Amino acid sequence: MPDALPPPLRGNLAGALQSPHELRVESRTAIPRLAAFLAERHGVEFAWCTAALGLEHGVVHTARGAFRAPRIILAPGADIVSLAPEVFERRAVALVVDDSHHHAPTPDPFQPEPVDRLILEEFRAVLGAPPPVVERWTGVYPSGPEDAFFGDLAPGVRLVSVTSGTGASTAFGLAADALADLLT
Ligand SMILES: Cc1cc2nc3c(=O)[nH]c(=O)nc-3n(C[C@H](O)[C@H](O)[C@H](O)COP(=O)(O)OP(=O)(O)OC[C@H]3O[C@@H](n4cnc5c(N)ncnc54)[C@H](O)[C@@H]3O)c2cc1C
Repeated sequence: MPDALPPPLRGNLAGALQSPHELRVESRTAIPRLAAFLAERHGVEFAWCTAALGLEHGVVHTARGAFRAPRIILAPGADIVSLAPEVFERRAVALVVDDSHHHAPTPDPFQPEPVDRLILEEFRAVLGAPPPVVERWTGVYPSGPEDAFFGDLAPGVRLVSVTSGTGASTAFGLAADALADLLT
């Protein structure tokens, strides 16, 4: 097995796991295509560029008026302060700056170059010379003691938050659980 690996992965390596079941999905193409699929196939109406300002039982107040529904799911991503600050505070959720794993309640907008250098050095140590960097994805995600959690905000209003930077991989499973939880 080690002989079948590229040179940087040989050496003192005890073993490796190769899975034929893994898929790599590019969020920036997958998410618009998912939205288009839901609109075309299932008639889902998206209210793009519409800020939710408040929620209560049976109603979401937005910048474009009220939306009424018997069940509501709030999934605000990194915006942990606007609509349910007390829940996030109770659960000790902070924000992580992209995958540097730097935590802060209000991260600075400045990306430290030494951290990017460390990531590329690690790449070199494991996989060999890195290809040229063409883009950097700088973003934040919530981080807390649990991988993800559901919270009750009002009757029929459920908060869903991924607090481990794994929401792109776990979204479909988590969505199924969140809906099952809300419908029971
Ligand atoms: C740099 C980076 C790398 C990552 N890499 C990975 C990875 O390799 N694998 C992985 O599984 N996960 C990864 N993640 C984490 C993943 O992106 C998140 O866990 C996932 O996007 C969470 O999904 P979500 O729908 O809960 O929140 P989001 O994707 O953040 O979506 C929340 C949406 O709600 C909107 N919103 C918030 N508040 C309001 C409001 N008041 N009114 C209206 N709209 C509002 C926001 O604008 C946003 O569009 C990464 C994250 C970052 C930043």
